[in-house]
Amino acid sequence: MLDWRNIDTVLLDMDGTLLDLHFDSYFWLEHLPRRYAELREMEPTAAREWLHQRIIRDQGTLNWYCLDYWSAELGVDIAALKREVAERIAFRPHVQDFLGRLRQQGMRSVIVTNAHPASLGLKLQETGLDQMVDAVVCSHDFRLPKEDVAFWQRLQEVEPFNPARTLLVDDSLPVLRSAQRYGIAHLLTIVQPDSQAPARSIDEFRAIDRFDDLFPEDEGEH
Ligand SMILES: [Mg+2]
Repeated sequence: MLDWRNIDTVLLDMDGTLLDLHFDSYFWLEHLPRRYAELREMEPTAAREWLHQRIIRDQGTLNWYCLDYWSAELGVDIAALKREVAERIAFRPHVQDFLGRLRQQGMRSVIVTNAHPASLGLKLQETGLDQMVDAVVCSHDFRLPKEDVAFWQRLQEVEPFNPARTLLVDDSLPVLRSAQRYGIAHLLTIVQPDSQAPARSIDEFRAIDRFDDLFPEDEGEH
């Protein structure tokens, strides 16, 4: 389905692409409301509804991903609360094999993530993902989310790539649109970013379910 001969760089999103988005959904929708209600001595349902309304106001901005912002806004230590449920951080299927295969084929593999440095650090510590790729780039270092087309220009400065020979895999459609505007030629999204949520039906970009579908068996001969 992909012609790997036309690709030499693979940019990979982390949450919902390499890692199961269920950790993040569980944290923001279950664990945080429960702990927030305890810490603030609030009624759990009221805490959940208030948090939900508050959090969606910042969707699509860099603040949305910023643990410092939420710690200050909500008055709780978000990074510490995330560590309480760190054992739930998990790979999506076949990711380790896929990353090994990219290495084997001599392709440059780079994680590009909107995750906050504290969240990124926790996930790398739990999974060892940084040992499986060539580089990890965090959008907070540029103060630009991947949804902003200027992100890709800034990425060029630290991680030069030829957009015509680059593949981006990302579960976020707004991110894929911004990469497309920048000129990244090969774009793939993920059918089921959260293992506990329903599969999505997507027409706008090619969507994969399993990473092992990307390297058909005979490809290894090239
Ligand atoms: Mg993602």
